[in-house]
Amino acid sequence: MKEIYLDNNATTKVDEAVFEEMRPYFCELYGNPSSMHFFGGQVQKKVDEARRRVADLLNAAPEEIIFTACGTESDNTAIRSALELFPHKRHIITTRIEHPAVLTLCRNLSRRGYRVTELNVDGEGRLNLDELEAAVDDDTAIVSIMYANNETGVLFPVEEAGAIAKAKGAIFHTDAVQAVGKVPLDVTSSTIDMLSLSGHKLHAPKGIGALYLRKGVPFRPFLAGGHQERGRRAGTEATANIIALGKACELAANLMDDTNRRVKAMRDRLERELLTLIPNSRINGGEAERLPNTLSIAFEHVEGEAILLLLSEKGICASSGSACTSGSLEPSHVLRAMGVPFTCAHGTIRFSFSRFNTEQDVETVIRELPPIINRLREISPFGRELLAHP
Ligand code: PLP
Repeated sequence: MKEIYLDNNATTKVDEAVFEEMRPYFCELYGNPSSMHFFGGQVQKKVDEARRRVADLLNAAPEEIIFTACGTESDNTAIRSALELFPHKRHIITTRIEHPAVLTLCRNLSRRGYRVTELNVDGEGRLNLDELEAAVDDDTAIVSIMYANNETGVLFPVEEAGAIAKAKGAIFHTDAVQAVGKVPLDVTSSTIDMLSLSGHKLHAPKGIGALYLRKGVPFRPFLAGGHQERGRRAGTEATANIIALGKACELAANLMDDTNRRVKAMRDRLERELLTLIPNSRINGGEAERLPNTLSIAFEHVEGEAILLLLSEKGICASSGSACTSGSLEPSHVLRAMGVPFTCAHGTIRFSFSRFNTEQDVETVIRELPPIINRLREISPFGRELLAHP
């Protein structure tokens, strides 16, 4: 069965052009870029090119890019760096709807004596900057606020948040794992000190990420070891992955406008038609500014996991909220923070598009999903009630 892959916020297909770019760096050009000989040197050149390509996507300087193993490592590095640099500061600010890569670390730190403020969001998943303004103080080491939410696609006012953080002398970090390659980013005249990104969300392989570190911002490495990455991230470079990330960023930059236009049109069509065809459905974060590729839609009185299984039987891949929280039947922390009613949070499905999706994919979902919801409502007492009195 050919898959209809609408789970691109979980991970993306490696672009064939990206794969071709990295392929020679396994069996042929396998040198260590730190080696003195020509064989390492030619790999170093490609790593330099990749760093420039990643930097270009953000409008950063190449030396502001540090390669890491994943978005999670970038997030952990940023937060731990700030805490090590300012040991007298014991306060961290983040939000209730961060990815576990930030939230779990912050909650662990709060058990170790740090004061952690988790900012609230409104019913549409939006941040209230007044709450941030009130929370930040001279004791705040770092403010870490995501750029775009992985479950709803809702965008945060990162620039404004950064200005508030910096006015109080705090480091400002943003987890932009879901935003990089999907929305234009320009760090030159920005308030962002550090920014995390991850290759597998933009058609590079899993196992490669990067941390943007603004020139002049103090930094402490997370890993102790060799002098790679100018002493900022020890460990022999994952050369093939780095080269792949560079190519993926170059493609993202070149294709962004066209991709966004197509992807948004498909997302909007799916959203419109599902809302029309399926009564008692609603969009999570629908009133907020969102990523163009993400649709989080709730079907009242249906179990999200049951929907996913039946969609999967038809070859359709989606997600019930974050891939990292599925597997547990707890409603997602994001939807809970937004105050989405239990009956809707449980029946939420996330569809997330990429440039590889087609109108045909949208048509298949529009054809297959309404009967699935109907069937599931028929077998639940509340669902039958809804069908009788929509
Ligand atoms: N941050 C966000 C917003 C994410 O969506 C993810 C992955 O889903 C991560 C961080 C973690 O990235 P990685 O899987 O590369 O560790």
